[in-house]
Amino acid sequence: MDFREVSHTFQRLERTSERLEMISILSSLFRKATKDNIHMIVYLLQGRVAAPYTGIEIGMGEKMVEEAISRAFGVNRDEVERLYKELGDLGLVAEQLASSKKQMTLFSEPLTLERVYTNLYRIATLGGEGAQDTKIRLFVDILKDSEPLDARYIVRIPLGRLRLGVGDATVLEALSDALFGDRSYREILEQAYNYVSDLGRVAKMAMEKGLEGIKNVSPIVGIPIRPALAQRTESLEEILEKTGGECSAEAKYDGFRLQIHKKGDDIWIFSRRLENMTGMFPDIASAVREQIIPEEVIFEGEAIAYNENTGEFYPFQITIQRKRKYGVEKAAEEYPLKLFIFDVMYMDGKNLTSLPYQERRSILEKIYKKGDTIEPAERIIAKDVKTLQDFFESCVERGLEGIIAKDLKSPYIAGARKWAWIKYKRVMRSKLSDTLDLVIVGYYKGRGKRAQFGLGGILVAVYDPKDDTFKTVAKVGSGFTEEQLSELKRILDEISIPHKHPRVSSRIDVDVWVEPKYVITVLADEITRSPNHTAAWDGERGLALRFPRAVSFIREDKGPEDATTVDELIEMYKRQHREKVTEGEDNY
Ligand code: AMP
Repeated sequence: MDFREVSHTFQRLERTSERLEMISILSSLFRKATKDNIHMIVYLLQGRVAAPYTGIEIGMGEKMVEEAISRAFGVNRDEVERLYKELGDLGLVAEQLASSKKQMTLFSEPLTLERVYTNLYRIATLGGEGAQDTKIRLFVDILKDSEPLDARYIVRIPLGRLRLGVGDATVLEALSDALFGDRSYREILEQAYNYVSDLGRVAKMAMEKGLEGIKNVSPIVGIPIRPALAQRTESLEEILEKTGGECSAEAKYDGFRLQIHKKGDDIWIFSRRLENMTGMFPDIASAVREQIIPEEVIFEGEAIAYNENTGEFYPFQITIQRKRKYGVEKAAEEYPLKLFIFDVMYMDGKNLTSLPYQERRSILEKIYKKGDTIEPAERIIAKDVKTLQDFFESCVERGLEGIIAKDLKSPYIAGARKWAWIKYKRVMRSKLSDTLDLVIVGYYKGRGKRAQFGLGGILVAVYDPKDDTFKTVAKVGSGFTEEQLSELKRILDEISIPHKHPRVSSRIDVDVWVEPKYVITVLADEITRSPNHTAAWDGERGLALRFPRAVSFIREDKGPEDATTVDELIEMYKRQHREKVTEGEDNY
């Protein structure tokens, strides 16, 4: 495929502010794809060359890209830097240089999608000595044959500045439309994607196997499954209601969620966000080799640091030090981990996800041998509130977060937040007890004292999985330090876009719109009705946060689709108003 098809699609995507149009633009590109190149399009759309779980990142810094631009178009570095200052985007710099160069060399080899993808893939996977120069050469090779528009996007990809904001659901919907005729097959594709969290592979499988084939996709060892998520509640009664009067209550450990794959001696460890973390947990990997029996298995557990002397668990801040501060070896020595396994999804060729929880749990209890590191999550079976309450209290007493109740009859529901798992946590009762994870969709330039930072506040949104959009719920201006304000501006400028993103629904304007990409955690005093915000819009008003303040910086562990959802917001609103609401006043 001519790469021009791709760059023209990118340009159309960049211009649209309608989500449905976004789907149809994508769909027409997918219709032109073949089973040998569709995965390339899917990855490039999201600025990648492989699924996130592979850890394969193109990762070229600005300096390297500048060098490549300078060599490809025969201008010196100073000129590239000068243009960069002027245009503020290396993609535009390359575009401009490519258009002036075009007049000099009329004949160049046509640039294909395959060629661009292959070179970028090699750049991403090259290592070792001399790699840097080879990477630049590979990049020059595709840049020099680029049309101006091609150059714009080719340069933005390795810098992570494509800013198209094409989420997984958007891709799935467009694939459904292109391959099966309309958007209604998204759920079937999504089911395959939940088992094999690699969009490129799903696209290829869908093309190769068709609709029937895609329905039968099963997990694959080495490729992560999208994790089941828990609903939350503040009522033990509700737990019993939702689980039909009887449930399993498990201790909720506050550590790292790990999805572990084993095939003989080969071990893969994935985080909740499905990043490959095998290197960070050599101690867990060797415990798995020692203690986990089946030859081939995919299971899940929570790893948490504990004090070997007292047997007490450490808070999350200590567990996470493995990621932040220390070298892995040192952390493993100082803060050994225990792994509490809580589910098993695949074993020796069999997809176990459709079995009811009880059956999976009894398999889980047989896949391990006793040892120092791995044991099943503690659990009880409860039929009444008193039993749940006692278990909850005993967990909290031991420094755990709370409990997770599980519906005994429910399958493992990959990739979704359903009532099969319900978390009940210890809450610090502030006015509104829970925090919200919100997506940044734009920002306001600072005024007054904030002018020096260039950012005075941000517009944030909840996620609405029903139509795959982000609906605004608050402007947040407090909770950031001065350094954070400047840092936030720098980070957001890298993903700024000229108009509201098509997946964002907003009734208010901002100074700068951004791609919906980053999540922050926010605490507020109250949820109120508001005519300004679009979250839970009922035709007249939506829901908004009163006195919101940031309690985290950008969350590295959450993507935009992991943000608090509209339904969760409504749930929180209802809970807060349960006493206040008089009949007829509330539409929810
Ligand atoms: P939350 O992170 O608050 O949404 O709560 C769900 C998380 O609890 C999961 O993603 C796991 O990381 C963690 N967790 C701890 N213990 C368990 C357990 N026994 N079963 C399932 N999840 C658990």
